[in-house]
Amino acid sequence: MHMDRAALKQRYEQVKSGLPPHVTLVAVSKTRTVEEIQALYELGHRDFGENYPQESRDKQPLLPDDIRWHFIGHLQTNKAKYIVPFIHLVHGVDSERLLEELEKRATAAGRTIDVLLQVRIAAEDTKHGLEATDLPPMLKAFSDGHWPHLRLRGLMGMATLTDNKDKVRAEFAGLGFLYRALRADGAVDRRSFDTLSMGMSDDSDLAIAEGGNMVRIGTAIFGPRG
Ligand SMILES: *Cc1c(COP(=O)(O)O)cnc(C)c1O
Repeated sequence: MHMDRAALKQRYEQVKSGLPPHVTLVAVSKTRTVEEIQALYELGHRDFGENYPQESRDKQPLLPDDIRWHFIGHLQTNKAKYIVPFIHLVHGVDSERLLEELEKRATAAGRTIDVLLQVRIAAEDTKHGLEATDLPPMLKAFSDGHWPHLRLRGLMGMATLTDNKDKVRAEFAGLGFLYRALRADGAVDRRSFDTLSMGMSDDSDLAIAEGGNMVRIGTAIFGPRG
């Protein structure tokens, strides 16, 4: 497929210039070709986000070793094995079963893996994500050392897909509040619990305004997905 490098560069620079320096940009490269990812890499970008375990596993060996791969989709337990050998950060962890499986696979791979817990903030649209009330026992298990090969880095959330900006903003505000409350009350290790992943192409400005410090942006960089 033909790729317009000049257009990619322009969109990338536009997105980058709109982000405050404390915000990490994850370029969402699901369904994009190795050539498109390589082109963005050559512009200096290193953080890429994928949604499908086999697709990530297949692309990773074809691209430079210093890419930081983020897994941003829903990860089924039986697919964790595909990404554990190379993944940098797993954003969508939403069950103890998945934590157990990631721990087992990370131990076998001799790696420590960074994870975010996905919290359900959308009123509708999604069945994935933990409720805020699920968190305390999990945080306790983390601090008790249950998963020594996993490092809890923060939270992730996805807002309702709607044009209603007030609704989206309120959902992000709730997650921002929860993130700050956990850091403030000593429920987490603040030195490593430092990441709040929220915001995509259409709502990253709202997410950042509510305290997000990692955004996951696909179409605004690569153009519409085919
Ligand atoms: C696809 C996807 C994104 C990026 O969406 P865009 O609208 O293309 O920016 C971000 N986060 C998750 C979890 C996704 O699945």
